Amino acid sequence: MTESLSRRAPRRFWGWGNADAALSPREQATVNSMLAALDAPLDDRPVPQVGEFKLPAPRVAPPVALAPMFSAAPLDRLNHSAGKSWADCARMWLRQAPTPPDWVAYPDDEQAVADILDWASAAKVAVIPYGGGSSVCGGVEAAVGSGYAGAVSLDLERLNRVLEVDPVSRAARIQGGALGPELEAQLKPHGLTLRHFPQSFEFSTLGGWIVTRSGGHYATQHTHIDDFVEATRLVTPRGVLQSRRLPGSGAGPAPDRLVLGSEGTLGVLTEAWVRLQAPPRFRASAAVQFADFLQATEAVRAIAQSGLAPSNCRLLDPREALFAGVADGRRTVLVLGFESADHPLQAWMQRALELVADHGGQFDAQAVERSMAGGDEHRSGAAGAWRDAFLRMPYWRDPAVGAGVILDTFETAVTWDRFAAFYQGVKADLARAIHAATGQQSELSCRFTHVYADGPAPYFTIATRAADGSVASALAAWRDIKQAANAAVVAHGGTITHHHAVGRDHRSGYEREVDPLFRQMLAAAKQVADPHAVLNPGVLFDPAGRAVGITGALG
Ligand SMILES: Cc1cc2nc3c(=O)[nH]c(=O)nc-3n(C[C@H](O)[C@H](O)[C@H](O)COP(=O)(O)OP(=O)(O)OC[C@H]3O[C@@H](n4cnc5c(N)ncnc54)[C@H](O)[C@@H]3O)c2cc1C
Repeated sequence: MTESLSRRAPRRFWGWGNADAALSPREQATVNSMLAALDAPLDDRPVPQVGEFKLPAPRVAPPVALAPMFSAAPLDRLNHSAGKSWADCARMWLRQAPTPPDWVAYPDDEQAVADILDWASAAKVAVIPYGGGSSVCGGVEAAVGSGYAGAVSLDLERLNRVLEVDPVSRAARIQGGALGPELEAQLKPHGLTLRHFPQSFEFSTLGGWIVTRSGGHYATQHTHIDDFVEATRLVTPRGVLQSRRLPGSGAGPAPDRLVLGSEGTLGVLTEAWVRLQAPPRFRASAAVQFADFLQATEAVRAIAQSGLAPSNCRLLDPREALFAGVADGRRTVLVLGFESADHPLQAWMQRALELVADHGGQFDAQAVERSMAGGDEHRSGAAGAWRDAFLRMPYWRDPAVGAGVILDTFETAVTWDRFAAFYQGVKADLARAIHAATGQQSELSCRFTHVYADGPAPYFTIATRAADGSVASALAAWRDIKQAANAAVVAHGGTITHHHAVGRDHRSGYEREVDPLFRQMLAAAKQVADPHAVLNPGVLFDPAGRAVGITGALG
């Protein structure tokens, strides 16, 4: 079988976006200048083609009744053989897909999901739930070890509908496989929106967001998808786990809390009730410049502790601000925004600007006024420039990977009392690790993606290259750098991940961070829900106790 069974537009299996994605001339110029700054070659290497990969024949046959939903088309297997981390893309440029799934299953409905899990449990076939495949921590690859007869990637793209809308309580029942744009398009006629916009919004799903505890565009208050989840429905090999729709409950440990962050290891999220809201009618935005990054962090702390709850509060260090096109590379920039469906925001913005001014922040007061006068400042001004760059950055990475440039990110959260030492410590550790792995002197850039009253979520970007400029050397260097980043964030008091999940690549940090007793309790829950341990082996924790590894280097 060579034809893809996917009903969606063909994806770029070696990078971000659809197969026909292209950079605008302006974007290409931005990428070229970034490559030139790193002394990397401009990208003229041929992009990977499906025919260049030799995939082994499937090791198992699907049951006859389910076979029409199973695909062994090379494009489908390649698309499902890895997520979208820098290392995933680098391996594709090297024409390596070491552990493709034997089959990709596209279940038509929830019953088919249950049937596939029944068959897999009996036949000892690993099942890897697959939403948009945007995992950046090795969450969707079939690196399941030798204890399985085969591996199936379970793609939920056909479960992509909004099933029910409750306009009174403002909630909707939505299938787990709906991509961000698909679910927002179906909610629009109801005049309601979920407004959960991770950077990967175009190519990630509600089910993926919930089981990875995704972080959206709200910088405060509703930072994670958790805050929008009202009830969940998880199909496990032992049956369906359904929670009740409730605005809140104090009845014991919440079942949804076990589903959130379960990363496909306990069951397949087929549906969820999520909380909705009216689209914003009022907006206010400001771009505040600071001479010093650490001084700016104090302004952000003041805002985070003020109770003002801005929707946007992205702090960009000078290099991040330059890359996003919102400053000249010498100043730190705070992109600040408020939004509301109900009330004008002058008072909130005015108070926030008093707080930033107290910490040396400078801003264009007229631009702020324009933003509140109902114009399109939030699209055309610095906030708009940031938003556009944010959405397009994933596309800019592809040519960098092909040119042997490591362009990767890692993210965390840490309390304010430890932030300054944490920031210096992580930067110093990573500068050493990058130098040891590549011979290059390279500094991390940093932005805050989300902020809380008790601490920020810093997000670091690595931009460097291997000494010989090859993708293979860059991938080897990446593995060392990634391990160093995992160790540094936990050692200096942060979490291994604020919103990118654990998967395989963050397990080393997760296992240091979480109490062993809790991990045993989680393993016991898995034993009940998935007694044959077929769901996503190697992700989050490993029932077989296999060595911890990272992408492409599993024991
Ligand atoms: C360019 C880029 C930008 C990103 N930006 C953000 C961001 O802003 N915020 C953020 O939080 N993350 C971000 N991510 C990471 C990623 O998009 C999130 O982890 C996202 O929630 C994954 O959703 P998905 O549908 O693509 O899931 P997948 O990648 O398909 O799967 C992720 C994990 O969830 C499991 N899974 C998926 N669907 C289901 C289901 N229905 N039931 C059970 N298990 C399932 C998979 O087995 C896997 O372990 C980004 C990634 C990229 C590549």
